[in-house]
Amino acid sequence: MKAIVIRNTGEANVLRLETVADPTPRAGEAVIAVEACGVCFHDVVVRNGTFKAGIERPLIPGHEVAGRIVALSGDPQGFAVGDRVATTQRSHICGHCGWCRSAREPLCDDAQFMGDRGLNGGYAEFVCVGTNNLVKIPNQVSADQASIAACAIGTVLQAVRDIGNVKPAETVLVTGAGGGLGIHAIQLSRLCGARVIAQTTSQAKVERIRQAGAHDVVVTSRGTDFSTDLRQLTDGRGVDCAIDTVGTPLFVSTRKSLAKAARWVLVGQLTGEFVPFNPAQLFLRNISMLSATSTTRQGLADTLALIAQGAVLPVIDTVMPLSEASAAHRLLEAGSISGRIVLRP
Ligand SMILES: [Zn+2]
Ligand SMILES: [Zn+2]
Repeated sequence: MKAIVIRNTGEANVLRLETVADPTPRAGEAVIAVEACGVCFHDVVVRNGTFKAGIERPLIPGHEVAGRIVALSGDPQGFAVGDRVATTQRSHICGHCGWCRSAREPLCDDAQFMGDRGLNGGYAEFVCVGTNNLVKIPNQVSADQASIAACAIGTVLQAVRDIGNVKPAETVLVTGAGGGLGIHAIQLSRLCGARVIAQTTSQAKVERIRQAGAHDVVVTSRGTDFSTDLRQLTDGRGVDCAIDTVGTPLFVSTRKSLAKAARWVLVGQLTGEFVPFNPAQLFLRNISMLSATSTTRQGLADTLALIAQGAVLPVIDTVMPLSEASAAHRLLEAGSISGRIVLRP
C-alpha cells in the first residue's frame, strides 16, 4: 500500500510517500480502507521530535480515521465487511481493565495511540484497528466529517460537557479559537448554553470564529496578556470555564482571566515549554485545573450523533491528497488554518 512514513524527525519534508506492506490484522482487529484522515498538531510534534512518549520509528502517522472495513479477524463484534466506520484515536485497547470497563479507555495501560508506533497509522491506504475502537458512521455524515469527529470534536465534547461541566448562562473562554479544537469548542460551549469569548492571534480567522458561534472575539498578538480584555468583557468577573487548546504560551493570560471557582480545562499544548506557577494563585480563588484527553468510543458515538443531527458542523479547512502530507503540515504550522485539514489516500 501507499503510506506516508516518518523515518527520522525533522521538518515537514521528512514525511515521505512510500510503498510498504499492507498491515495484517491481529485477532479482534478490522482492516480499514482509509477514506479520510485528519491532520492533527499531534502529528506535527511526533514528526519534529517534540513529542517522544511511546514513539517508535519508522512510523506511519495519523489517528483521525474514517473509512470502510475490508477485512475482519476474530470476533466481528457486530461489524461487517463494507461497514463505514470512524475510529477513536487508538488502534488497540485491552478491553477488560477497569479503565476500559468504565468508559475511560484512553487511560488503558495497553492503549496504543494510533500512528505513534510502527507502520500502522492513518496516513495510509489501510490501517488495522481493534473493533472496540470503532463506531459506525451515520448515513448523513461524510467520511471527511467523520474522520475529525473523534479528535477535533470528541476531545472538546469531553472538555466542555464532561470535564468542564459547562452550564447555561456561564461564560466560557476558548483559547486558540480558530484551530481544530477551538473552533469546535466554540460550537459545543454554545450547545451547552454558554456565552463564548474566543481568543485568537489571527485577524483573518475572526469571521470564521464568529460563524462558529462566538459571542465575542479577542484578537491578541503573540505573547501579549489578554486578561485585561477578558475582565472588561465580563464586568471584571472573569470566565467560569476556560477551554485551553494552546497551553504554555497563554498560561498566565488564561489564569488571570478566570473567575472565582472557575474550571480550567487543559486540552492542548503546542510547544515543549514548561510553566511556572504558584499553587496559591489557584486555590485561594478555588480554581480547578482539569484536563481532557483523547476520546472514548462513547464520546465518538455521541459526536457522530451530534453531527448527524446538525447540532455540530465539522469545520474542514482543506482536503488534500495523501501525497500532499508535507504541504498539509506546513499549512498547519503556519497557523493559517481554520478547523482541520483532511488527507485522502
Ligand atoms: Zn488528533
Ligand atoms: Zn484496558
